[in-house]
Amino acid sequence: MSDQVLVTLDHKVRDADVPLLHADDLAVVRGDGVFETLLVRGGRALKLEPHLTRLVASARALGLSNPDLDEWRLAAEMAAEEWGAEREGALRLVLSRGRESGGDETAFATVGPVSERILEARRDGVSVLMLARGYSVDLSASAPWQLLGAKTLSYATNMAALRYAATFGAEDVIFVSSEGNVLEGPRSTVVITRGKTLLTPPPEHGILPGTTQQALYEVASGKGFRCEYAALRPADLITADGVWLISSVTTAARVRKIDGLVLPAAPLADEIVALVDLAIETTGTESAAV
Ligand SMILES: *Cc1c(COP(=O)(O)O)cnc(C)c1O
Repeated sequence: MSDQVLVTLDHKVRDADVPLLHADDLAVVRGDGVFETLLVRGGRALKLEPHLTRLVASARALGLSNPDLDEWRLAAEMAAEEWGAEREGALRLVLSRGRESGGDETAFATVGPVSERILEARRDGVSVLMLARGYSVDLSASAPWQLLGAKTLSYATNMAALRYAATFGAEDVIFVSSEGNVLEGPRSTVVITRGKTLLTPPPEHGILPGTTQQALYEVASGKGFRCEYAALRPADLITADGVWLISSVTTAARVRKIDGLVLPAAPLADEIVALVDLAIETTGTESAAV
């Protein structure tokens, strides 16, 4: 039996070993849908509201019907609770356009274990390659069909970039735009530190707005950090005090090598990790300064 929880949007806990999708589901044949990935801790889905908000934005970008937030919230909470409080889990919310032959959209939530790769990235950091994304930072505004700000199910190129990096012994990737600006990781946001300033590329540059980065900014700005959005070049990463890949399930992975160049130990590394942890535990309604 697979180590997985499956909940459908009709709020039924299903047997995760029983097939759920039809062979003509547009998620399967076109990658036509959107998703979210959340960390489950203590039987709770962390930062559920910002993830639901982004799910709605992604669905809108693809012209899917407006997700019913109450239904999704309940399904996510059920899945997290069913997973239990003993260990962390990775919760995925998936919404596809449904079957090619018509009918309703396909919607479900799963929880599985946090992988060994993720535990290693948290503990040891990651070595990354900078790879060409192939588009300009201007594309997002002029080409909405590129879906650059949406978390879509079309991740084949993201996964291919990670496999390419792996052939060079790197565990992760930082994408660079055609004019040489730093964009994001295939599944994470790039944040750098310069003293007590945090910097990340602006979402208008065609990157996904990260819920974890946003939560970090809310908490860090109440703790004496300046939090800024700025165009970053690869040289800014090399000369930064610390470079981080930030995301919901991995939380914070320190970049220790870029294109083979070893970065010095980040001075505030422990503080950044603690801040990300605090940020994801803070619920949306609490003030970050409390
Ligand atoms: C999911 C993802 C992120 C991180 O978003 P979080 O909300 O922090 O998990 C960043 N970039 C890409 C491309 C992603 O798919």
